[in-house]
Amino acid sequence: MKKTSSKNSPTETGMFISALRDFPTKLFVETTTRCNLNCFMCVKQNRGSEVSEGDFSPELFLQLEAAFPNIEALILNGIGEPLLNTHLESFIRKAKKLMPVSGWIGFQSNGVLMTNLRAVSLIGAGLDKVCISVDAIVPEHFRKLRGGGNVEAVETALSALNDAKCMCNRPDVKIGIEFVAMKNNISELPATLDWAASRGVSFAIVTHVLPYDERHAGNMNALRLRRAEFPTAQAFPERLKDN
Ligand code: SF4
Repeated sequence: MKKTSSKNSPTETGMFISALRDFPTKLFVETTTRCNLNCFMCVKQNRGSEVSEGDFSPELFLQLEAAFPNIEALILNGIGEPLLNTHLESFIRKAKKLMPVSGWIGFQSNGVLMTNLRAVSLIGAGLDKVCISVDAIVPEHFRKLRGGGNVEAVETALSALNDAKCMCNRPDVKIGIEFVAMKNNISELPATLDWAASRGVSFAIVTHVLPYDERHAGNMNALRLRRAEFPTAQAFPERLKDN
């Protein structure tokens, strides 16, 4: 009999298990639609965008409480910069009390507002995972892609988060980066991963740009990309080639 590889078995990899559960296990809460940057690849900043601006309120957050005991992951971002919502810490604190012990809370951020104080306050509140956007490390390229942002701000954010992990005695907190791959920045991916790994980053999410208008269509990349943990930055590009 031909042996089936466990690598290809959906049940063994858990692909179908989530669909059979009684409750959704991931909850995404768009804590704000406001932002302090103007990024090239963002749906919010494109011609014809009609994303209205506002923050998720504490009153609205209270209405989600019944969902927390059943979820494994709470992701506190959508389109917008979560650090602009001053209630973020209270959201994390509340959810953490009600979620299963194994559950995690995280968000993505451009990092501009991640000061030492804010990092301690967020990790102290119970934040488990944070992902900072970085699509280039050549300063000029970074500024072109992320209008109003700069590499130094990301570096400061990563340093603040690493220090806060120590101060709060939370070595389990995961710090990652997200890289939006386009024709005009793909050559910087390996160096960006090296740069991030040497700054305490333990995972990377590499995504395609979504073509919201014609400028994006010309910048799409043909690479097949996937999410991966990388123990060292050198290992990640190797995995990328294999897939
Ligand atoms: S930081 Fe995020 S939400 Fe803000 S403009 Fe850039 S991509 Fe859009």
